[in-house]
Amino acid sequence: MNASKIDSPMVSMVSLVGAGPGDPDLLTVKALKRLQAAEVVLVDDLVDARVLALLPPQARILRVGKRGGCVSTEQRFIHELMIREARSGARVVRLKGGDPFVFGRGGEEVTALRAAGIEVEVVSGLTAGIAAPASVGIPVTDRRHAPGVAFVTGHRQNGEDSPNWQALARSGLTLVVYMGLSTAEGLVAELLAGGLAADTPAAAIAAAHTERQRQAITTLGELAQTLEREQIRSPAILVIGQVVREALPSLALQAGLELRLSSA
Ligand code: SAH
Repeated sequence: MNASKIDSPMVSMVSLVGAGPGDPDLLTVKALKRLQAAEVVLVDDLVDARVLALLPPQARILRVGKRGGCVSTEQRFIHELMIREARSGARVVRLKGGDPFVFGRGGEEVTALRAAGIEVEVVSGLTAGIAAPASVGIPVTDRRHAPGVAFVTGHRQNGEDSPNWQALARSGLTLVVYMGLSTAEGLVAELLAGGLAADTPAAAIAAAHTERQRQAITTLGELAQTLEREQIRSPAILVIGQVVREALPSLALQAGLELRLSSA
């Protein structure tokens, strides 16, 4: 046995698991297996209660959501907690909403765990940026409307660069915005300034694949007012681009828009 093996007799491992957007039927089979075998689970705010109900009754659930907390300190705390639990030999699952590597700080957690000599396995999940639009019939890369999609965040911490909205406005890509509610007014203004037409179709989908789902279909020019009027609350995905035309006909009609309902 070599020296490092003597220092840590068991191989510590953490599974970084994507819980998908809500509905437990959207978990991967691998995610379900990891949940069922978990002994310690560190859970974010956005994980649906129905997913947590799949954990074995004896699993220890540690809620490490960041709502209202001091983000940087808490992230370090989460790293330390994971490392401690993994070193104790427990089967540790780090459970995150959607996909762990899409706006989930999964990358930072992998770096911290590896630096501590702990193996990490990443179990991808269905990200809200795809699943929320799909829940109302929007195909984010429909080639009849857009050559691709950009996943961007509307929320930046101090010192982090904001997305270049004006460049995105000119990109022709479908824009899928995570965490964009509080900054919606500003990002709409930037997109308009970048040359995106005010009548560009836009959608907002809140709490997709949960019992609280709400959605609204509108235009870029009316997006901010629509969010207010339709009481769209976090967590929500914004979709901006011609692909929104493919939304379920009933929704587009409700919005009173002259959207082409099918490109056939
Ligand atoms: N890792 C997650 C994203 C985490 S960032 C993923 O891949 O989905 C948190 C943001 O994700 C929220 O502010 C919201 O923009 C979006 N989000 C997460 N779950 C959602 C859901 N069920 N419906 C709509 N948006 C959701």
